[in-house]
Amino acid sequence: MTTTAPAAQAPAGNPWHDAREQLDAVAGKMGIDPGMREVLRHCKREFTVNFPVKMDDGTVRVFTGYRVHHNEARGPVKGGLRYSLNVSLDEVRALAMWMTWKCAVAGLPFGGAKGGVIVDPRALSTGELERMTRRFAAEIGMLIGPDADVPAPDMGTDAQVMAWIMDTYSMMHGHSAPAVITGKPVSIGGSTGRVEATGRGVLFVTQEACRARGMALEGATVAVQGFGNVGATAAKLLGEAGAKVVAVSDSEGAIYAADGLGDIAALVERKRTRGLIPDGHPGTHITNAELLELPVDILVPAALEGQIHGGNAERIRAKMIVEGANGPTTPEADRILAQNGVYVVPDILANAGGVIVSYFEWVQDLQSFFWEEHEVNLRLERIIKRAFQEVADIHAGAGGTLREAAYMLAVRRVVEATQSRGIFP
Ligand code: GLU
Repeated sequence: MTTTAPAAQAPAGNPWHDAREQLDAVAGKMGIDPGMREVLRHCKREFTVNFPVKMDDGTVRVFTGYRVHHNEARGPVKGGLRYSLNVSLDEVRALAMWMTWKCAVAGLPFGGAKGGVIVDPRALSTGELERMTRRFAAEIGMLIGPDADVPAPDMGTDAQVMAWIMDTYSMMHGHSAPAVITGKPVSIGGSTGRVEATGRGVLFVTQEACRARGMALEGATVAVQGFGNVGATAAKLLGEAGAKVVAVSDSEGAIYAADGLGDIAALVERKRTRGLIPDGHPGTHITNAELLELPVDILVPAALEGQIHGGNAERIRAKMIVEGANGPTTPEADRILAQNGVYVVPDILANAGGVIVSYFEWVQDLQSFFWEEHEVNLRLERIIKRAFQEVADIHAGAGGTLREAAYMLAVRRVVEATQSRGIFP
């Protein structure tokens, strides 16, 4: 099976501190009531599970996993499951909070959640991966459900992992429950267009950002960090849209060719069969850190959080950053980039395409009525471009960064929902 490779460098700093700092800055600016701010600063539920798995050699290994619900004011909670050695409770908390804002920016009727297991999925056999996934699904079974918490793929997980979780949940409930999870294979209720959705959303948002900045996407140079599902799809679609993709990377390193890397689809195939980096490809072999600092028009960090930080932000030469990853830029780096006039399209807007099509998948499952791919892509385009416009309008009025504008929109929507519902009892 294929899994998304975890990215380059270990993340800098603590993503949960960063996520809270981003919220605090905007809540202060918006004059959010201190009680409400405390609600938003906390995750509502934090579930940790240590569970045993029988390995192929007969030994038993105990894995640690998490499922965190940040906020459910706007609906059932939504967010991916990550398999990576970098997973920690603080990382999952941050990712859950970012899901709350992402769903709110896109106007989806979901709250935010995230989960993960501390594991390198590439180090397990398919059988071990399946047993680990099924046991983890059983352990978080008390939290997930079509009306409660709907997981999805993230780094290190894919449609097959989602299928095992869907099946495990269905076995435990005595009936098929496709709407319990999104990002499934189409054969069991997945949505067409879901695999490419995050990368396609990155394309749509980049088109809008270029328009807003008076910059042509055609011929613009692009560097993409991360060649997993998001990075590879974004690179391919940006290339097809006329941009010149000059650098891509995976966890092994990066390749750079100032004249463009050519056919990205061929690179995707090459990564699948031989790996991205080994010899033979035209282009220079550079490091992930060097890729971030290339003199390009558009930089798409599509790997881990904390990649652009206080230590390298000053050296970023891209005119525009479109955040395919969650949390790739620390607050300290954000301030430096803003001072230097770099236009940053924030993660909660830029990579919302995945959860938008997850929403379509959930709706299709609940109705058992499935859409054509062109309809999925069209609706995705409409929703993500509308979200961009709403954020851009706030930005035009309030100034600051585009991230602050996106947060203002998201926080306002979550606060409104919380106020309408009131505090129980
Ligand atoms: N893991 C993806 C994200 O970070 C998708 C989440 C979802 O579809 O629920 O946005």
